[in-house]
Amino acid sequence: MRILISNDDGYFAPGLLALYEAVRELGEVTVVAPERNRSGASNSLTLDRPLHLKEVQEGPTKGFFYVNGTPTDCVHLAVTGMLEHEPDMVLAGINWGPNMGDDTIYSGTVAAAMEGYLLGVPAIAFSLASFEGRHFDTAARVARRLVERFRLQPFGAPLLLNVNVPDVPWDVLAGERVTRLGRRHKAEPVVKQISPRGETVYWVGAAGAAADAGEGTDFHAVEHGWVSITPLQIDLTHVGQIEAVRQWLE
Ligand code: MN
Repeated sequence: MRILISNDDGYFAPGLLALYEAVRELGEVTVVAPERNRSGASNSLTLDRPLHLKEVQEGPTKGFFYVNGTPTDCVHLAVTGMLEHEPDMVLAGINWGPNMGDDTIYSGTVAAAMEGYLLGVPAIAFSLASFEGRHFDTAARVARRLVERFRLQPFGAPLLLNVNVPDVPWDVLAGERVTRLGRRHKAEPVVKQISPRGETVYWVGAAGAAADAGEGTDFHAVEHGWVSITPLQIDLTHVGQIEAVRQWLE
């Protein structure tokens, strides 16, 4: 099995190495990741300058490739121009921090997986659902389990999964839950500061707290110690509103 791995935290991120180590024995694994942290890059493509593909020459990430672009660039470049054979799976992560509910709109981790999916390759995004970053090993075991499952029994339809793993030891995990996305409250306001040059600058603030976190959501599953697995699709059409908008325009 051929596996392509990317992320949005950058090629040096601990979660990327953990994911690579978890699945390396399951097939022929190629890693192509951004050269710097591109969390929040969503599905952006770099169109205003050329992309460079470079290879790590030493250390534990030797052989990883890195690109001066976004997570989407990485997967796009790898699948459409770099790899000799199309991968059987695209994996993204393991992200440092949750990607639940509305996060999936902004996430570069989800975007990397989504780019695989758009190019016809089954794809899974993995996130460690806390900013403490303690148990990448737990998320890595979850990833290995899912990839092994896919290898034994491919899904049989285009597949894009968003997986969030509680940041707890493996033994403490309650199990897996297949979920829907919850919703967050609106984001915290930007944080205003005065720069050393006396200019007013702004930092994008934190995501909102969970709003729709009821039974069946990703938030609920993770809160209760379950691995959350959400199947995603891309069509944003609000089918239920098509008729209402038609009438509104008349
Ligand atoms: Mn990230």
